[in-house]
Amino acid sequence: MTSAPDSIIHRAELLRHWLNDYNYQYYVLDQPTVPDSEYDRLLRELIDLEMKYPVLKTPDSPTQRVGAEPLKVFPSVLHEIPMLSLDNAFNEAEVIAFDRRIHDKLKTTTSIDYCCEPKFDGLAISLIYQQGLLVRAATRGDGATGEEVTQNIKTIKAIPLKLRGDFPAHLEVRGEVYMPRAGFEALNKVALQQGEKLFANPRNAAAGSVRQLNSHITAKRRLAFYAYDCGKIQGLNRHYETHHQLLMQLHHWGLPVVHLIAVVQGIEGCLQYYQKMAALRENLPYDIDGVVYKVNAFQLQQQLGFVSRAPRWAIAHKFPAEEAITTIEAVDFQVGRTGALTPVARLKPVLVGGVMVSNATLHNQDEIVRKDIRIGDQVIVRRAGDVIPEVVGIVKQHRRQDAKTIEEPSRCPVCGSHVVRAEGEAIARCSGGLYCPAQRKEAIKHFASRRAMDIQGLGDKLVNQLVDVGLIEHVDDLYRLTVDQLSVLERMGEKSAEKLIHAIEQSKQTTFARFLYALGIREVGETTAQALATHFAMLEDLMAASPETLQTIPDIGPVVAQHIDSFFHEPHNRKIIQSLLRYGVHWKAKSISPVESGPLTGQIIVLTGTLISLTRDEAKEKLQALGAKVAESVSKNTTLVVAGENAGSKLTKAKQFNIQVIDEEDFLKLL
Ligand code: NAD
Repeated sequence: MTSAPDSIIHRAELLRHWLNDYNYQYYVLDQPTVPDSEYDRLLRELIDLEMKYPVLKTPDSPTQRVGAEPLKVFPSVLHEIPMLSLDNAFNEAEVIAFDRRIHDKLKTTTSIDYCCEPKFDGLAISLIYQQGLLVRAATRGDGATGEEVTQNIKTIKAIPLKLRGDFPAHLEVRGEVYMPRAGFEALNKVALQQGEKLFANPRNAAAGSVRQLNSHITAKRRLAFYAYDCGKIQGLNRHYETHHQLLMQLHHWGLPVVHLIAVVQGIEGCLQYYQKMAALRENLPYDIDGVVYKVNAFQLQQQLGFVSRAPRWAIAHKFPAEEAITTIEAVDFQVGRTGALTPVARLKPVLVGGVMVSNATLHNQDEIVRKDIRIGDQVIVRRAGDVIPEVVGIVKQHRRQDAKTIEEPSRCPVCGSHVVRAEGEAIARCSGGLYCPAQRKEAIKHFASRRAMDIQGLGDKLVNQLVDVGLIEHVDDLYRLTVDQLSVLERMGEKSAEKLIHAIEQSKQTTFARFLYALGIREVGETTAQALATHFAMLEDLMAASPETLQTIPDIGPVVAQHIDSFFHEPHNRKIIQSLLRYGVHWKAKSISPVESGPLTGQIIVLTGTLISLTRDEAKEKLQALGAKVAESVSKNTTLVVAGENAGSKLTKAKQFNIQVIDEEDFLKLL
């Protein structure tokens, strides 16, 4: 065996040391200190070194092991069949190489059937059922030995204590316990209020909740479960040829199996499945960090076998990491349209979730203090879906001595007005109001944005310029602009000026909901704007509504009601609204409002997910024609939820409130 140079031996030692340390924080303490992407990067580096210099491959290397040793506080249990991990693929080339290895090993050129599943981000659990009764539940531990957590697992409602139907005498089910996002957010919210430690992510929260000495605490945590495999089975009445058949059987025995699994042909099918799940990911009520491809036929699985820590017949195709490490180079405070000061970290650019990120929000000063973030720190940046990248925490062990604390300014960095912070509020605000150009600019940018009045071509830079040169001050001024005025602006020819004027003209035809959202009333986002537009037939009615009336609308609480009321009582705002209407901003009056009385009068119905046979608007109109009220969000007053495909958080909420849920088929029958 080739011996390795000293520098490489040293590097490998260092990598082993770090990885073992990170494993301990992650698996034993459920408190990771670095993002997964950093862990994966270091593990990859060690795997590569060990491949090049096999002498470095020690039996205790993190590359050879699954998880970490079980905690001594739980009784240890020996797994009947070891619980392995999965190999990872981080790009298409690695997935294709996996498929090629399978073909080579099986000496075949025929395309393989794969069972594709979401990769849940929770913790692996083994459940043993004897004569149909759940008798033991254990964590994966180090793969050979796990921690016995039966009492805690029994508190999870999704896990049946008793199987249904024609079950075998002995059955080991394997699957993932996870914490849905809503449960995770609620848990951290309470922890924050009570000054307790926050969980880094739903995975760690799930692991921390299962590995609890007090099962009453586990019972309070919102945990769920999906089965994805079996261990030892004895006394089966039937023969199963494929993994998919067995999963379907688990479902019939009463175990939750996710409906998103699919059997596909060949690796092309797998890659298509990956794209589909990547698009769905954001709207799922739980975290997935990739997808898993498993050779579907048991016979082929057997021929392929295992390597040290993972089966050869399966691979996890990971989504781009949503977290990465970088350095804070500076911090600026930005002023928003309501005057809110938001600290923004200027970062050393880093790739997160497939996008280069160089700015991330620090939310507010309280968060900076709580997370002890300083300029010069190495920080973990998170970017999930379309959400603005945020700094979630620091890597403490890398703190530099000269790291500088971040001070909240006492004067607005844009207009110099005093910065004030209302009692009990986390957010500091510039007191300059519309005197502050930053607030005016932000209000105009919001008004013109795609989801508001959708003025195409009126981007942030142009708004800044228009305000700076004094061509506009408030949103209604946009409708007074002329081609001549615009064409003298920097980087603006006559053609573009004409185009912009045309876009401004077109924006006059809008919808009531968009208009309300565009006004930028505090706390009135798209959903609330839609709820207001649904409830009130006319703008005048809304402007005259009292806070009490407003609160009868689903999801509008006292604070939002107060903001709406104050907004419409401000003479300046009324003037701008009148001016907008005078310039010709208009929308179609509601075509159908709930009929006075119909078979569905009194019902408050929420539509969620995708309906196949009709659009949302059509469904809504039909319901309203039958007398029902269609609400935008689920509340205690909701009487029925219609769940189409891929329904997300509204469905979860409906279940929480015990509201009747029907699918599209039943909905059509109802109509
Ligand atoms: P893994 O999470 O990469 O994959 C194996 C696990 O996937 C299984 O044990 C199972 O629990 C889970 N899984 C989810 N859905 C599944 C499905 N449909 N079928 C089969 N299995 C499914 O492997 P791992 O060994 O548990 O952990 C490695 C991961 O943990 C890596 O992502 C790594 O980044 C992270 N980690 C992070 C740190 C850190 O400090 N941040 C430390 C250690 C490990």
